[in-house]
Amino acid sequence: VLALGLAACSGSGAGSTDDSSGAAPKDPSDLTVGVAMPTQTSERWIADGNAVKAGLEEAGYTVDLQYAGDDIPTQQEQIDQMITKGADLLILASIDGTALATQLQAAADANIPVIAYDRLIRDSDNVDFYVTFDNYKVGVQQATSLLTGLGILNADGSEGDAAGPFNIELFAGSLDDNNAHFFFKGAMDTLQEYIDDGTLVVKSGQTDIEQAATLRWLQETAQKRMENLLTSTYSDGSLVQGVLSPYDGLSRGIITALQNAGYGPAISGGMPIVTGQDAEIASVKLINDDVQYSTIFKDTRKLADQAVVSAQAFLAEEEPEANDTESYDNGVKVVPSFLLDSDVVVKDGIQSLLIDSGYWTEEQVASGQ
Ligand code: BGC
Repeated sequence: VLALGLAACSGSGAGSTDDSSGAAPKDPSDLTVGVAMPTQTSERWIADGNAVKAGLEEAGYTVDLQYAGDDIPTQQEQIDQMITKGADLLILASIDGTALATQLQAAADANIPVIAYDRLIRDSDNVDFYVTFDNYKVGVQQATSLLTGLGILNADGSEGDAAGPFNIELFAGSLDDNNAHFFFKGAMDTLQEYIDDGTLVVKSGQTDIEQAATLRWLQETAQKRMENLLTSTYSDGSLVQGVLSPYDGLSRGIITALQNAGYGPAISGGMPIVTGQDAEIASVKLINDDVQYSTIFKDTRKLADQAVVSAQAFLAEEEPEANDTESYDNGVKVVPSFLLDSDVVVKDGIQSLLIDSGYWTEEQVASGQ
């Protein structure tokens, strides 16, 4: 903020109307940032929205934060309005990464920089920057935790004692979310050798992302599919022993289906190893209670900070710093990106990763709220 203030003062002088080349950046208080988030049904997006807003406001900007209830036309309209109302920069977490081309063209026509937040916006030249986690690595981490949970690998990555074969099922996220593809690819690249050598058996045979997908990441949809899988594939008395799930909300739907079918401590082998993502509090409690096995912690506070830093750069007419200029081709161009790291959380990591870092308190973990 200080640097920005100084830069503003050292320009062509207060009151100058010369904005021909390299005009002095405006005062943050004159600038508005539009922030579009997908939905409030998942707590991560609420945390993201709050953290981005707070960070931008602390830097002096005015913030227009909108949630779209996972409805694509609503999100399009919200962004249209941000542009009409004169936003100076947009930070967008899309619902459908391919549905915003018209809005982005309007932003480009008005010289408004666009930062894609967490989810890549596809099929448009008018995306200037992308802040996210290393989504491929998230998928690798999910699959690796499935392998360690089953005992195929040890925690240090060495070969474990369990030889299998283990029955597993695979879930993926919403196919209109670019991240879903990265998560699934990272996971399948990790699991494939164990599927090929028979250690893992996807008993339903549903290994394509299209078969595993969950439109809009809906918990009920995952629950329904798990119920169907149990009926279609496991009514011969065989047990499912692991489930790759890419998001805690889906994991809870999957767990409900399993519990309704009698899985739990009562069935020999107990609950299958179920993975997740986002360290949602309800799932952290399930992990603490030995019901869900793992989640992936992506510290949304760090992502929000990165979005704010990148926004400040654009608004000071500078280029934000990227640490990846290869991975995220949106179909039209490779979008310069800043990728953050994520952590696998299993029960014995809850204290060090989630409580000590102040993400959740011990009381929240105990109550699940
Ligand atoms: C995010 C995940 C989240 C999922 C569902 C993805 O785009 O990267 O963190 O679990 O959407 O909201």
